Amino acid sequence: METYWRKCGSCKKEINFNQIYQSCSVCKGKFAFCSVDCWDEHVPIMNHQNAWAEENRAPAKSTPPTDQSQPVRRIVTSPASTSHKSSPMDTEILIVASKLKQYVKDKHDLSTSANVMDALSREVRRLTDRAAEKAMAEGRKTLMDRDF
Ligand SMILES: [Zn+2]
Ligand SMILES: [Zn+2]
Repeated sequence: METYWRKCGSCKKEINFNQIYQSCSVCKGKFAFCSVDCWDEHVPIMNHQNAWAEENRAPAKSTPPTDQSQPVRRIVTSPASTSHKSSPMDTEILIVASKLKQYVKDKHDLSTSANVMDALSREVRRLTDRAAEKAMAEGRKTLMDRDF
């Protein structure tokens, strides 16, 4: 694994991630230099007529996506299901996707990402739970439109 970002175009010293470095206005991304002096050194070598050094910051070190110990996505599960692998059926979709997509398209001329069904299902569940509590509080066995 690399511990530095790039090497200086002149002195070959390592330039670390997140470190300020100099780039050449002519060579652009081709070289990075640890200091203006190092950039200065390469100007006669490259025979630049009109060049200047540009201060930049090296990118932050990226976490390699191959590291299996790092969860890519935080999956929220209830404590009872922690031993099971999460599946889409754990949180079933309560929305008719084709109908919703058609509605959003017709009404707003937008396409709908698949995650919207999850978000809306969560909302429907939340509203339904609240309505069900209201129905039960009134001693009913039937959920009714007025509970919403
Ligand atoms: Zn250097
Ligand atoms: Zn240059």
